[in-house]
Amino acid sequence: MNNNGKMGQLVVVSGPSGSGKDTILNEIFKMDPDIIPSVSATTRPPRKGEINGVNYYFMSVEEFEERIKRDEFLEYVQYGDNYYGTLKPQLEEKLKTGKTVVLIIDVRGAVNVRKVYPTAKTIFILPPTESELEKRLRCRESETETSLLKRLEVAKDEIKRVNEYDYAVVNDELEKAVEKVYNIIKSDNC
Ligand code: 5GP
Repeated sequence: MNNNGKMGQLVVVSGPSGSGKDTILNEIFKMDPDIIPSVSATTRPPRKGEINGVNYYFMSVEEFEERIKRDEFLEYVQYGDNYYGTLKPQLEEKLKTGKTVVLIIDVRGAVNVRKVYPTAKTIFILPPTESELEKRLRCRESETETSLLKRLEVAKDEIKRVNEYDYAVVNDELEKAVEKVYNIIKSDNC
C-alpha cells in the first residue's frame, strides 16, 4: 500500500523466449521508478551478466522443491529442464508499496496469476517473425542446440495463446515497442 493505502497494479507480461520482452521491460524500469519488476526464482544457471536477486533468485532444485512444499509460490512451472516461480511474499511486499509490479512469466504462469489476481493487466510480446525469433535465440550463444530447439518449440506453442491476453505488442522496433508497452501499463484498465 502507498501513503493512500492503495495496493499497486499488477501487470503480467509474457512472450516467447527471444521476443525481447526483458529488453523492453528493462527500458521501462529505467524510465519510470513507479514501475518495478517482480524477481522470480529459478533453478536455471545464471547467464553471463545476470545477478542473483536482481534478474532471478537462483537456487538449487532441492531448495526450489522445499519452497514448493512450504507453499511459498504464487505460481510455478517447469520450463524446459528448469523450475521457474513467483514467490508470494516478495510480490505482496512490492504491491504494498503502491507501485506497479510487473511479472515477466510464461503463459501457464499467467493463467495461474489471473486466478488469484483477476484484475491483473496482461500483455503479450510477439517477435516480428519466426525466423527473427530463431536468429535472436542463436545470438544469445547461451543455449545448446537441443535446448535452443526446445525453446523454439515452446515459443511456437506459446504464440498460439496470444488471444488470452488483454494486449499484444509486436517487437519489430525496440523504441516503438517500449513506447507501446509503457502506454498500456500507464493506461486505465479498459
Ligand atoms: P529465461 O530462462 O529465458 O529467463 O526464462 C524462460 C521462460 O520462463 C520465460 O518465458 C520467462 O518469462 C519464464 N519465467 C520466468 N520467471 C517465471 C516465473 O516466475 N513463473 C513462470 N511461470 N514463468 C517464468
